[in-house]
Order: sequence, then C-alpha cells, then structure tokens
Amino acid sequence: MLTVQQAVEHMLTTIKPIDSREFITLESAVDRVLAVPIQSTIDVPGYNNSAMDGFAFRAQDIEISTQLRCIGQSLAGHPFTGMVGPGECIRIMTGAQVPESVDTVVPQENTSEVEPKLIQVNSATTLGANIRLLGEELQVGAVVYPAGHRLTPVDIGMLASLGIALVEVLRPLKVAVFSTGDELILPGEAKQPFQIYDSNRFVLHAILERMGFQVVNLGLVADDPARIEATFREAANKADAIVCSGGVSVGDADYTKIVIEKIGQVGFWKVAMKPGKPFAFGQIEHTWFFGLPGNPVSATVTLLQLAAPALRKLSGEAYAAPLTIAAVAGEPLKKRPGRADFQRGILRYENGESRVYSAGPQGSGMLSSMVQGNCLIRLSAEQGNVAIGDRVEVELLQAPVK
Ligand code: AMP
Ligand code: MG
Repeated sequence: MLTVQQAVEHMLTTIKPIDSREFITLESAVDRVLAVPIQSTIDVPGYNNSAMDGFAFRAQDIEISTQLRCIGQSLAGHPFTGMVGPGECIRIMTGAQVPESVDTVVPQENTSEVEPKLIQVNSATTLGANIRLLGEELQVGAVVYPAGHRLTPVDIGMLASLGIALVEVLRPLKVAVFSTGDELILPGEAKQPFQIYDSNRFVLHAILERMGFQVVNLGLVADDPARIEATFREAANKADAIVCSGGVSVGDADYTKIVIEKIGQVGFWKVAMKPGKPFAFGQIEHTWFFGLPGNPVSATVTLLQLAAPALRKLSGEAYAAPLTIAAVAGEPLKKRPGRADFQRGILRYENGESRVYSAGPQGSGMLSSMVQGNCLIRLSAEQGNVAIGDRVEVELLQAPVK
C-alpha cells in the first residue's frame, strides 16, 4: 500500500504535461494556464503620480512659508505642463502626473485656502510624501508570472494593467467522467428500494469544471465488462484523462481494474488513506485514468487529494501543495493509526484561536459530512486519537470544492 505522498509523487513524476498552445484574449483567459512566463514591458507606475487629492510643491519651500500660491492643476489624464516655482504649488488629483518641478504632495484635508489661490499647509510634511514613484511596483523586464500559472480574475487585471491583450496559454485539459454501478439511476427517475441516485458524477463534473478543465460527461455505465470497455475506449478517444467512480475495489462486480488491465496499464491500486484506499491510476493509450472509489465522500476526497494534483500537472499547471493551517481540536476525534485520515471538520475562529470540530458521522458514504463541513482535518497515518486541545492540520474546503 502506498502513502498519499508516495502516490502523488509517483503520478507527478510519471505524467508529462500537454503542450499544445494558443493565443487568446484576456476576456477568455480566466482559469487558463500560461504557456510561457510573463515579463513586464513597461514600468508600473509608468510615471510619478499622486496618491492623494491635494496640493503638490517643493518640500524645501515649506520651511520658508507654509503659505503657497496655487498656479494650476494636474488631473488624471491631464498633466500640468508648466513650471512650479519657489513658493508655488499646484492642485493635484489622485493618479495625476507629478511634475518634475515638485517633490511632495499634501492631502487636501491638511490644507486650507486662506484667500483665493493662497493655500495654507497645516500639517508637517516629509519630502516625497504621497507620491507613487515610476516603476515602484514593477520595472521593465520583471517576471510577473512563471509559465504554468493558472490565471485568476485578479491576474487578468494585472495582465491588462501591463497592456497585454493576448496571452499564450495551453489548451484546456479534456477530462472524461462517468459512473459505474448497476444500482445507480439518474436523479428524476423513479427509484426501486435497491437503487440509489448517481451523485458522484455531478460532484466530479462540477469540481473538474471549476478546476478549469473541459468535462466530457459519459453518463452512467452498468457493471458489465463489455460496456465498461466500450466506455473506456470512447473516453480515451475523446479526452486527455478519465475520472470514473465505482468498481475499483475487490467486489464481485468491480470490473474497472480487469478492463484496464486488458486494454491498458494499471499503475497502482491501494493508497493508505481514509476515506479512500481503493484508487486506480493507469493509462489507456495516451489517456490517463483515475479510478475513484464509489462511496461519495471517498470519491470526492480522492479526487482532491490524489487525482487533482495529477490532473493539474497534466494540464501544465505548476504543482502547489494544498494550503493548510494549524487549528486546535475543539473536541476529541477518533482515529486509528495506519492510514492518513481526511476527516470532515467545521473550522471556527473562537476566543482568539482557530478551533476545529467534527462535521458529524464520518462514514465514507455520508455526503452530509461534506455538506456540513468547511474543512478537511488532515491526520497522519501514524496519528492515533486526537484529544481536545491538540493541534491539528486543517485544509479549507473552498472553490473548486465548495
Ligand atoms: P463501489 O466502489 O462500486 O464498490 O461502490 C461503493 C459504494 O458507493 C456503494 O455503496 C455504491 O452504491 C456507492 N456508489 C458507487 N457509485 C456511486 C455514485 N456514482 N453515486 C453515489 N454512490 C455511489
Ligand atoms: Mg460498484
């Protein structure tokens, strides 16, 4: 049995990212992966500008008299073109260019107009105050993003601020999704007592889409080796990766492994984690295969902890370990040494510290624990029971999960 870390490392070293590229406009670039690093071709800010609405002058003049004659104005988009002489100032607005002939800005609220065009500076000022300097944020040539960065809405704004209209990105990863199980039916259908509604496919589809992938949804597949094989072949034709749930353990109707062994290769099978354990990683022709357990919590947690890093790598995205924080157990948590546990928890900030509580019964089939929970409590394989007050590692569940 592999540890979670070994399983992830194995997949990350095996998988080589896709490399087909395209240029796209900023409007469609969110969630796409940069194919090349982005360097700034301009200085940001591009000119010295005022951080305040106020008055601009030379700091040394204030030592002689705190009253300055206002001789003009500089507005955003309409710079002052004259010279500011001794004892003079100009009115200046936020973002407006600061002329060479001045070096300091005082905010409007620290001034008064003693007579028309005669400004009294009422506060102490320091040389250079309230001026954003040319290039203080970014200079020409600065690497703003490495290749492999997945673009967020803020990143799109950053690219726009650099004057970049087209970005070179990798094509979106195509991921085929399907569910296996003779007991599964579609929501909306009338249910026999021995049937259950397929929920995994809806969760997997939605998470994968939020991760920035194009999902090819192949529906429900019966526990029939011939049907499973046909679906795998179709998926391998249409997608870069396949994520399916169910049929990966050792029950009588678990055909997924047998089929992959017949038409492809299976990488590994068991991972020491809870929920989870049966997890298949393999390949059919050029398409990678991730077989998740059928239990809904297991399917979601193995998608996040195991398949997601591998899919991100395949999509060209640079690997980043999940962001975790330390929290204090607000109640005892049951845990047996042996497998790494990802318990669903509720994290709250209480009395100056982050405390985490169990999200309720932790059965791997109980999706309600993920509905109630806002985090995963990551307990190492060696860890035993957690006592109240113990420090634990917590991973927040947020987009793309929640
Ligand atoms: P399996 O991994 O196929 O042995 O399934 C394990 C458990 O998960 C069984 O109780 C299944 O009924 C359930 N299950 C399998 N697939 C799904 C699905 N797509 N949606 C909800 N439950 C499922
Ligand atoms: Mg099954």
